[in-house]
Amino acid sequence: MRPAATEKTCASERLRRGRILPWLLLWTGCAAPDAKEEAMDPGRSAARENPVRELDTAPGWRSLGPSVQGRELRIMDLSRGEFGIYWIGSIHGNETEGHSLLPELLPEWTRSARESGIALRICEDMNPDGSAARRRGNASGVDLNRNWPAKNYRPGGGRGSEAWSEPETQAVGRDMAAFEPDLVIVFHSTWRGPFVNFDGPAQAFAKAWVDAAKTTDPRWKVVPSMGYPTPGSMGSYFGVDRNIPILTVELRRDENSDKAFKALVAGFAALVHEIQKQLLATSGS
Ligand SMILES: [Zn+2]
Repeated sequence: MRPAATEKTCASERLRRGRILPWLLLWTGCAAPDAKEEAMDPGRSAARENPVRELDTAPGWRSLGPSVQGRELRIMDLSRGEFGIYWIGSIHGNETEGHSLLPELLPEWTRSARESGIALRICEDMNPDGSAARRRGNASGVDLNRNWPAKNYRPGGGRGSEAWSEPETQAVGRDMAAFEPDLVIVFHSTWRGPFVNFDGPAQAFAKAWVDAAKTTDPRWKVVPSMGYPTPGSMGSYFGVDRNIPILTVELRRDENSDKAFKALVAGFAALVHEIQKQLLATSGS
């Protein structure tokens, strides 16, 4: 629930239409019954109404709870607004290129988001145990991008004993349900990068990002399909099942960070512009 919910425009209502029922269903009989209370928590709302003052210091970060090994899962609200972006800095522990750039990226993104009425929430690293060990899965060996209750989820095989079996996916899933994102973005990296993959109605967002990123690095491209099955992934769960736009941003593995930084700043600015364009196109109706 966004603080400005009572002032929500016709445009954002339209953009968000169809989400309410899925989000309610999401928490019916699930492992996180306190999600509604968290969404209604005035303290949580107040945090979103107050812009982060010191972006590169600890006070802005809040803990969602511990990982398997007790490391904090941290989030920060960088800006507030009617269109909500939930950004995950890292999910696979051996793909931390994007996450390691966050200290430099956050001030840039915050400026763009605040000027544009976008609520931007960052989850710094939803797999801190994996990052510490440079390992894809969490400390229990579960791939946190295969542990979501998508229709294509199947237990076992590194996907967990059941969907949301892991404290990391439970905590982030609960927080995302409270935040009700209009767009989800997750950083990864691969030797095939850099590219943007998308699920759900996110093609225009992916194209805007890539067109801008290409001006800094011509290798950027849109890859509509990863080319292999991703059961229980965030893309399957949010994009395919719930029609919530999600971008999977695949940076080039072990790449020069200056190059990635420029592309990520340009990509985000273009994304913000595209969001404004879509909001304008649906306003006044
Ligand atoms: Zn990955």
